[in-house]
Amino acid sequence: MDLPKTAESVGISLQRLEGMLERNVKLSRWPDPRLFRFEKAVSGVEAGTVIFENGEIVYGYPKIKRAMMLEPALKRFFPDKVAVEEKMNGYNARVVRIGEDVVALTRGGFICPYSTEVVRERISPQVFRDHPDIVLCGEMVGPHSPYVPKDVYPVDSLEFYIFDVARKAKKDVQGLESTHRLAEEYGIECVPLFGVFDAGKAPEEIKKIVERLGREGREGVVLKDPRNVVRPIKYTSSESNCTDLRFAFRYFNDYGRDFIFSRVVREGFQAVEWNDSEKEFRERCLRLGESILASMGETIRERMAQDTIVQRVQIKVKRLQTAWDLERHLRYMGIRVVFGQPEPLDDGYLVRIEKLAMSTNDKTKSMIEGDLW
Ligand code: ATP
Ligand code: MG
Repeated sequence: MDLPKTAESVGISLQRLEGMLERNVKLSRWPDPRLFRFEKAVSGVEAGTVIFENGEIVYGYPKIKRAMMLEPALKRFFPDKVAVEEKMNGYNARVVRIGEDVVALTRGGFICPYSTEVVRERISPQVFRDHPDIVLCGEMVGPHSPYVPKDVYPVDSLEFYIFDVARKAKKDVQGLESTHRLAEEYGIECVPLFGVFDAGKAPEEIKKIVERLGREGREGVVLKDPRNVVRPIKYTSSESNCTDLRFAFRYFNDYGRDFIFSRVVREGFQAVEWNDSEKEFRERCLRLGESILASMGETIRERMAQDTIVQRVQIKVKRLQTAWDLERHLRYMGIRVVFGQPEPLDDGYLVRIEKLAMSTNDKTKSMIEGDLW
């Protein structure tokens, strides 16, 4: 890889880049093409930024901050108009063409072999012929997701929904309008846009939207500036916060404390802002409490029955090699996985995967055996 050229293109000195190599910036040799990956944000370069061996740069997708209280946040950041888009719950992917090949990058800047197979099939190559430097930013959602399986969307297997468009070597994203236009033009799936609201009406409208999404088991919204000047802000439903908690407590020792704590705090702010009635408040308490205790109970009972705590996911691949590549990728990411025998379908293979929550397994077992915390 051409280090001096790489350093110059991201605007850091060669010396600095060399210093960062193998600390904040890692070389990925597999799968092709080779690339440098920024594991942490450095000198204004977003984490997840990738520099391919041909010198092309794809910047990391910017972080989206969260509103804890909707109305004051709206007043402060969107005093005029706000566009409300669905926040779809899957995993982030950036899709680009490098040389002749389209690849899908994960948030962290790895090439995901499975997502790559899916987008190669789903996205018309014409968009990359017309715009060779385009970066499609979107969410991979659906039941056949190795990371975030969800069956609340109209998706049979796994689908890529774009929510932004960027260009290679450009840090900024192009925003709402060009994204929806491009999706329309090339027949690419795009996250739903619920509307553009005046400041006065927005808090009430957004509350209604988020409550409805929550009832449907969906995550929430991303609030965006129709003029693409102010940075987007996210806001999620109570049900989604609780689903996350259910998950986090099922694998309680494998999840970060911050992940858990922040979701409980969100419920506190939402309960107050939305001025829950007595009945609504009781429901919220029950939902929150159950999401913690019910799933932990399940884990403890299963472990007492000698079962190993695993997360079961499924993928659907066209080529078996994609499944083996994904297995290698997940192992490389440090995830303990067991891949089942592929089951032939009409148009590919279904592969069941077990992800082992090792730390939760060990901790739970030792507690059951009487160890002290
Ligand atoms: P972040 O670091 O951006 O906060 P995170 O990993 O904590 O990311 P989330 O809390 O899920 O993730 O929120 C941001 C993510 O939401 C984006 O990175 C993107 O993958 C996803 N997303 C889903 N729908 C949208 C949308 N309509 N607009 C922008 N992002 C969306
Ligand atoms: Mg997400």
